[in-house]
Amino acid sequence: MQIPGLLQKAKTGFFSGLYTYFFPELCIICDSVRHPDEKWFCAACVSKLKENSCSRDACGWCGLNQSIRSCTCSVAWDFPFTSIISIFDYNEHTQSLIRNIKYNGKRALAADLAGYHPGLSSLNSNVDIIIPVPLHWTRLRKRGYNQAEWFAKGISSITKIPIAGDVVYRVRSTGTQTKLDKSERNTNIRDAFALRKTAESRVAGKRVLLVDDVITTGATITECANSIIAAGCESVTVMSIARD
Ligand SMILES: [Zn+2]
Ligand SMILES: [Zn+2]
Repeated sequence: MQIPGLLQKAKTGFFSGLYTYFFPELCIICDSVRHPDEKWFCAACVSKLKENSCSRDACGWCGLNQSIRSCTCSVAWDFPFTSIISIFDYNEHTQSLIRNIKYNGKRALAADLAGYHPGLSSLNSNVDIIIPVPLHWTRLRKRGYNQAEWFAKGISSITKIPIAGDVVYRVRSTGTQTKLDKSERNTNIRDAFALRKTAESRVAGKRVLLVDDVITTGATITECANSIIAAGCESVTVMSIARD
């Protein structure tokens, strides 16, 4: 038997206690030893994430946590979509999750985080298809996967709502938006998305859930939503792992 096979056997077999003693599984957020039955996190971080998700005083339109930052949605709503639903506030814990998802290859984590949304099944009554915000093909080739698509997979596996992953694409590479202010982001992302030629009939009349990893100013998601709305969908609701 080869070494990797032996290690796998040790992990699951009679010597599993010994194996975890020498090779403990670590929490992806705080590096503490986690129970091997817990996926990704130690118990303390699980409870912090649950608290983050459940204690959000989120605005029903823009998804901002009102106890952190107030919004003006009740006065004016400038977005082309119906609302933003976010699972977590973006803070030092969830920032670590997003980094792991985007830069450390932890794509499956994006899918598993969908399970932290307490009311995910309510989507079934107002969403027909899920569309992940696409990456530019050069970014996709470099990273090897689209984190928004993996988050969409997590939502779809719970709700059974189908994913339409090849409807919209990025016309040009826009670079990272993280260092730009709101108006620079708007300019940078303008007309960055387009609908694939054959996709119009798949979107027309549909209630779309557009998903991304983090939403900050909403510039990216607005541009992406506009390209889908132009194809005649009935509505677009937005969902993200974290809201900044
Ligand atoms: Zn932890
Ligand atoms: Zn709001």
